[in-house]
Amino acid sequence: MKTDWLQNTKLYRGNLHGHSTHSDGMATPEQVIATYYELGYDFTCLSDHLWADSSFAATTICDGSPWHKDDFITIPSAEMHCYGKAYDNDGLWHIVANGLPLDFAPASDTETAPDLINRAQEAGAYVSLAHPEWYSMTTEEARSVAHADAVEVFNHACSLESGRPYGLGIADFLMQEGHRPHLTATDDSHFRLADAGGGWVMVGAAALTQEAILTALKAGHFYASTGPEFKAIEFDGHQLTIRCSAARTIFIQGAGHRALNRNGTAITSATFDLSELKSPWCRITIIDAAGKQAWSNPFDLSS
Ligand SMILES: [Zn+2]
Ligand SMILES: [Zn+2]
Repeated sequence: MKTDWLQNTKLYRGNLHGHSTHSDGMATPEQVIATYYELGYDFTCLSDHLWADSSFAATTICDGSPWHKDDFITIPSAEMHCYGKAYDNDGLWHIVANGLPLDFAPASDTETAPDLINRAQEAGAYVSLAHPEWYSMTTEEARSVAHADAVEVFNHACSLESGRPYGLGIADFLMQEGHRPHLTATDDSHFRLADAGGGWVMVGAAALTQEAILTALKAGHFYASTGPEFKAIEFDGHQLTIRCSAARTIFIQGAGHRALNRNGTAITSATFDLSELKSPWCRITIIDAAGKQAWSNPFDLSS
């Protein structure tokens, strides 16, 4: 199991989903970048809404490169929209793509969500399903877009604005169906509220470049967090050892409703016997005393 990136590469903190005045955000790209830089991030994504409705979206991708620093970059991104989503008030899908070419075109009125995801991936992007809980993504819809790279399992703005931040149900559903989506946490910051710095990814990359970050994202060499830190995830036969920042609970979650747990005070290390989990896959959740969480990507245990 390839988990050595967690200890052997530098971890870069980044926001994969956020907005600026290029679409419906309240802060200019320069202000957004300054905010994340001051929060100690290494990169952010100006994933402005990409759609032909100027009331909240733009038909072009925001280029943050004029404000790059030696120790801070942006990755060309968009929150892509297209028609066909049930239970969205505008009938729109919300799909985040990181690493798009700057000339990537918005969806047409007839492009479907599966086709839009294919087009973005073929253009080199890393694609995640934004805020499934916020707009009641159905299991049928999830099946149709299971080729996305990731599910956004925590969205900070949705937490603050509507109390519907999660995507864990949809992510687990896709895993039960045999898919292995990565799990991301993001801000979806618009700066209408104090919505920067609530959900992020820690990416183990070879360098702080757009290419290296994208390569690491696609390899799943990252974890998602609203606070806690994974320090090590070590597989040794059927034993799994987690080292982390002080946690009150560690879960190993697997197929169906199967899970292992360790509860206590300031747990920084725990070893689990995966043969007890009886699952072809697992994912790890750690929760700290304040209720903040971190989520690993899924691991395939079938081989
Ligand atoms: Zn959205
Ligand atoms: Zn958004």
